[in-house]
Amino acid sequence: MPVLPIERKHGWTKRELTSLALIALVFSQCTPAAAWGNEGHTYVNRVAAEKIPATMPRFLRQAVTEIAYLGPEPDRWRNPSEFALKNAQEPDHFIDLERVSWLDPLPRGRYEFYRKLYEKRAATTENPDDYLPEHVGLQPYITMEIYGRLKAAFREYRQQRAEHQPTPAVEQAAIFYAGWLGHYVADGSQPLHTTIYYNGWVGANPNGYTTQHGIHAQFETAYVGANITAKDFAGMVKSPEPLADPFARYVSYLKDSHALLENVYALEKAGGFSGKGSPAAFDFTTHRLAAGAQMLLDLWYTAWEESAVPAPEHPNSTPASKATAPAK
Ligand SMILES: [Zn+2]
Ligand SMILES: [Zn+2]
Repeated sequence: MPVLPIERKHGWTKRELTSLALIALVFSQCTPAAAWGNEGHTYVNRVAAEKIPATMPRFLRQAVTEIAYLGPEPDRWRNPSEFALKNAQEPDHFIDLERVSWLDPLPRGRYEFYRKLYEKRAATTENPDDYLPEHVGLQPYITMEIYGRLKAAFREYRQQRAEHQPTPAVEQAAIFYAGWLGHYVADGSQPLHTTIYYNGWVGANPNGYTTQHGIHAQFETAYVGANITAKDFAGMVKSPEPLADPFARYVSYLKDSHALLENVYALEKAGGFSGKGSPAAFDFTTHRLAAGAQMLLDLWYTAWEESAVPAPEHPNSTPASKATAPAK
């Protein structure tokens, strides 16, 4: 059900909230909104978890079922019945890279990103609200924030092991962060999560791509659910490699994904996602899912490796925290 892509650019108005149509939607919405659909997200997390190397903790390698379950977790946070949650987290699933082409490199912290966008909005006369952070999307920020949580949990795990303390609680935390992280990393491999063309072509359209609001869910949910399994792309995922600069690598991963957005439209135009789809659509989609699983595995591995480095003694005095606000 393509709830996010269609409604993400605006909040519900009072009139909409009271409309019978919405009431009907609330009661009919038994399955959560999709991004890669339930299947795609479960597969990406599962495939990555099955490739966790023996150099990483055993508890994580044994948590394949839990990590796979957590793949779609943030899509379970989109029901109108939990309005504050739905409202706060919907921009986490995408970034419209066209709206930030002037901002290179992207700032590393969420609030610096907000500041740059508000400056741009103030200097823009035509559709300034296109630059509101919640309209541009926050994909790389939520991803790196959860990456940081996972790394901190791994560091805690190492410390508790060194002190011969019991570790089940920190293991549970790390499994949750690893699975939660997988959701956004998988979203990032879906080209339509990186673009203003997220659900139908807009503006000049020389190639005659579809303008219907349906391609997003047709591709990531209906087509994947009916035609692809984890086994179809598991063999494409290699052993993990450490990422020297996770944020920079993650942003270039999003840009690689963005560069493929026209392929999605061309495949749709050729009927590639209808019914059983085409071999070209299968090849494209399995490679995208594999790219997601690979980036996720590389991020887990890098978080584990980096967690061996002790945290600075006075983290509140680092330049990063000075740049935002004093710790309270
Ligand atoms: Zn989606
Ligand atoms: Zn998502």
